Amino acid sequence: MIEHPEASPRLRRTSTTLADGRELIYFDDSEPFLSDAQTREVVDERPLDERPTAGMMRLDALTGDWVSIADHRQNRTFLPPTDECPLCPSGGGTMPSEIPAHEYDVVVFENRFPSFAAASVADGSTVAKSTVAESAAAESAAAGPPGNPLLAQAPALGRCEVVCFTSDHGASFSSLSPARARTVVDVWADRTLELSALDAVEHVFPFENRGEEIGVTLRHPHGQIYAYPFVPARTASLLRAATEHHQRTGRLLGADLLAAELDAGSRVVIKGALWTAYVPYAASWPVEVHLVPNRDVPDLVALDGDERDELAEVYLDLLRRLDRYYEGPDGAPIALPYIAGWHQAPVRQGRDVSRLHLQIMSVLRAPGRLKYLAGSESGVGAWINDVSPEAVAVRLREVG
Ligand SMILES: [Zn+2]
Repeated sequence: MIEHPEASPRLRRTSTTLADGRELIYFDDSEPFLSDAQTREVVDERPLDERPTAGMMRLDALTGDWVSIADHRQNRTFLPPTDECPLCPSGGGTMPSEIPAHEYDVVVFENRFPSFAAASVADGSTVAKSTVAESAAAESAAAGPPGNPLLAQAPALGRCEVVCFTSDHGASFSSLSPARARTVVDVWADRTLELSALDAVEHVFPFENRGEEIGVTLRHPHGQIYAYPFVPARTASLLRAATEHHQRTGRLLGADLLAAELDAGSRVVIKGALWTAYVPYAASWPVEVHLVPNRDVPDLVALDGDERDELAEVYLDLLRRLDRYYEGPDGAPIALPYIAGWHQAPVRQGRDVSRLHLQIMSVLRAPGRLKYLAGSESGVGAWINDVSPEAVAVRLREVG
């Protein structure tokens, strides 16, 4: 299990409840809230339907992978006009948003259209109370439904959260100040720690989808955190490789790989005192970068203060390089559509062999040209990359 909680004196954390019972947490890093000169007391007065409870997930007997069937998500908000943005503070637009306050620094709330949710919402406002119902539901589901065992299902327990990086609708992560980026790092660690404590949760994945090419449905700068009731397929495959390497050598795969990349040098993009960014040797995506701590840590919670400080700086540097990677016909830089995801140790297994890393990847293989995950990638999971990883690293060093 995860240990070492580190309370942050840099932040004031206020947990509140939205009109439908979902939790919303303000993480304030500025005055008047940081010093408690003012407190968060705005009430959400929207007439909201009852929050959705956990849907179902089904086991794909062919692969052993769980699939969450979340048909309520079909009705979720899709690219609303700016004055109806649900992630802006309330008061500025034509309707109240998800955030009742008129301003905020960083805010986290439970997704209104979650793929994974608590089983019971009798109260819903505290983690401790919901876990009781969740574990009971998980137990009854473990036996599977009566009937054919090849058609197994279970409640899609867990939690999905939205992280608003800033109240500025037109910003992006790369335009945040280092201090604000540092706040987000603390928020990721806070959420990892708290979500990992839920009985049903086996894995916590903070990620950001940026750009409509990636399938973003809200333009406001935000990320998400999924807390899954299982170890997802790619995480399981990373864990398998790490476990085999550890059994064979007694060492951590992530650490040996970092040493190999530093030794080769040709794919290293940023070499910091505490963090290193490199294009992976066998990159699958046309643009892909991994950002790893130089020290062995299993998850974001385990990062110390110095590592969090440097992460904020290095991550901003990396994102700004990515936004200069391609130029349009007029020579203007193209904001790169990307997926950025934190691979952490699962909550309950393989924590001694797992090593934290951030993976950023883009489907943009040239200005205006997207790589589609077509026959080979989607059909059999065999990746074909049209771009040399070394060339990507050269370009990312050039635009630094
Ligand atoms: Zn907005």
